Amino acid sequence: MESVEQGAASQKWDVIVIGSGIGGLVTATQLAAKGARVLVLERYLIPGGSAGSFQREGYCFDVGASMIFGFGDQGTTNLLTRALEAVNQHLDTIPDPVQIHYHLPNDLQIRVHRDYEKYLQELIRCFPHERQGLRRFYDAFWEVFEGLNGMELLSLEEPRYLMRTFWQHPDICFRLLKFLPQNVGRTARRYLRDPVLLKFIDLECFCWSVVPADMTPMMNAGMVFCDRHYGGVNYPKGGVGQIAQKLVMGLEAAGSTIQYKARVTRVLIEDGQAVGVQLATGETYRAQRIVSNATRWNTFGELIEAVPAKEQKWRQRYMKSPSFVSVHLGISAEALPQGTYCHHVLLSDWGQMTESGGTVFVSIPTVLDSSLAPPGHHIVHAFTPSWLEEWQDLSAPEYRRCKTQAAAKIIERLNPIIPNLKQSIQLQEVGTPKTHRRFLGRQDGTYGPIPRRPLRGLLGMPFNRTVVPGLYCVGDSTFPGQGLNAVAFSGFACAHRVAADLRL
Ligand SMILES: Cc1cc2nc3c(=O)[nH]c(=O)nc-3n(C[C@H](O)[C@H](O)[C@H](O)COP(=O)(O)OP(=O)(O)OC[C@H]3O[C@@H](n4cnc5c(N)ncnc54)[C@H](O)[C@@H]3O)c2cc1C
Repeated sequence: MESVEQGAASQKWDVIVIGSGIGGLVTATQLAAKGARVLVLERYLIPGGSAGSFQREGYCFDVGASMIFGFGDQGTTNLLTRALEAVNQHLDTIPDPVQIHYHLPNDLQIRVHRDYEKYLQELIRCFPHERQGLRRFYDAFWEVFEGLNGMELLSLEEPRYLMRTFWQHPDICFRLLKFLPQNVGRTARRYLRDPVLLKFIDLECFCWSVVPADMTPMMNAGMVFCDRHYGGVNYPKGGVGQIAQKLVMGLEAAGSTIQYKARVTRVLIEDGQAVGVQLATGETYRAQRIVSNATRWNTFGELIEAVPAKEQKWRQRYMKSPSFVSVHLGISAEALPQGTYCHHVLLSDWGQMTESGGTVFVSIPTVLDSSLAPPGHHIVHAFTPSWLEEWQDLSAPEYRRCKTQAAAKIIERLNPIIPNLKQSIQLQEVGTPKTHRRFLGRQDGTYGPIPRRPLRGLLGMPFNRTVVPGLYCVGDSTFPGQGLNAVAFSGFACAHRVAADLRL
């Protein structure tokens, strides 16, 4: 009998998607919903990439993302809700009342409430002399958000869509064009003076863009700074990995296929055109179009040996961000003070914000969904930026020692949130940039691209088409960048462009 793999290899697919991150799965499901026959090839055992979940001794941990945007029920920016709906899927979510509880130098505590006005009042209490500026600053982002949220978010590489959108919403388009080349830093300095507040705005950007305000595009900030108060931050019931699982269910129900343990090692090129892929096993698969959900650094230089001039130019503007050291903990529930929120950011020295080990990010999803841990327990995920270089060339015992030390440091830093944490730990898993590289297949374990210097907003981010005909990229190294809702946007855009090319 022919195996599933052999069956898939002998078929001619419309589209092959390399990787089942959220960017890859949204592309695949959008295309499957339009009637394309799609094959997703995933190197790992489960879907989701950085948005997957893993199980250990009765605990369910999120690999990376836990603070999820895009699950709103109105407008057009609720891309995760819409991606699931497109393949007749739905995921119950739990609203998070506070996006982030910041624990900052000099005991400054700021909570980003879901309610916009309540958040502004919290900031005004901390910075009363900036009352007017604060409102003007944050209000500026609603112009961006309302523009984006008022139109269909599809491929900016599709001229008919662009013309239609310009025709239907000329005012919105001109407004968004104005913001496209802008960064947050200038807007912040236009309205705000207090140096500590300006540092806080840097951190508000750094938490998701991993660069300060001067390098963070207004367009991305418009989404984050407003959607947290509009659609809100909502945690998927059963863990973040459920998003990918549901997308896979929808993909299969629409007649397409995903294959796990299928590591693509090469994109096959014939007459200058991408025509298929080769797996580590040597098997080849052919399709009319190939979409890579691997990072651009993995796609060009690994899956395709050459790095085209256009990609080299992009690399001169953008570099790989650091990876993370992550600690996943299972703890006794009594250790967690009553009323603790799900997401925290800790920083004890403003000068250390962008440094390795400087900012610590914490998620405790069991305060929203207790089913993720055995009764009477919580899960804690804490992580801090770290470069691969810090972990290379270590002997196995040195590597283990450094991991233990790094985990102990992070756990110590969590004291302001969970005072007796060390004594309450039941399970501990530590990941380094090497772990991120190994399990997510991301070069140097990077979180994604960051500008090497302040650039003109989002203008330099590449869209989905590449210089190789028939090959597209999707995910966080394409417009508009990192984050689940952002890569979902990239997936919608990629599928739209591929569908137009295949006349679907
Ligand atoms: C620690 C951490 C915390 C984060 N927190 C948040 C958060 O709170 N909120 C948020 O919105 N975002 C967060 N993010 C960012 C978000 O998770 C990512 O931006 C997003 O998930 C990236 O999706 P992607 O589709 O680009 O690719 P990825 O998630 O990288 O998925 C790519 C997939 O492709 C597969 N693959 C790669 N190469 C091959 C190959 N050669 N053959 C076959 N398969 C291959 C990989 O195995 C993987 O499954 C976080 C990320 C990390 C690491």
